[in-house]
Amino acid sequence: MARYTPAKLDAIRRLYPEGGAAACRAAMPAHSLASIIQVAGRIGVKLSEKAYSLKMQEGAALRAASDKKAARLRSYKYTKPGQDSPRVTSPRKCLRCGNDFESEGPMNRICGACKSLNAKEYEPNSGG
Ligand SMILES: [Zn+2]
Repeated sequence: MARYTPAKLDAIRRLYPEGGAAACRAAMPAHSLASIIQVAGRIGVKLSEKAYSLKMQEGAALRAASDKKAARLRSYKYTKPGQDSPRVTSPRKCLRCGNDFESEGPMNRICGACKSLNAKEYEPNSGG
């Protein structure tokens, strides 16, 4: 991790109150925003009232945007049920061969093997 030299700490003292961590980061791209905020707090540098209220407005706008995104995701999920939930299966006896198999529901009474056999038997182009 990059070190904070006295010159960088000076820059934070100078830039942080008006420009926040973003302005400091422009001067020291090696440091992350989170790290700059942390260091500013440690050396007692705070955002000016103006910058702070701007930041709060940005935060509110960001939150509103992410709420919209979350709502969109929720409605998407609602229109596509079961896409990411595991299939519930229960053991059942196959009506055709009598073997136990994992049924996917009340409509699923024939095992996979028999289903494919059935599909072959009733294939319209099989000549039968
Ligand atoms: Zn079967």
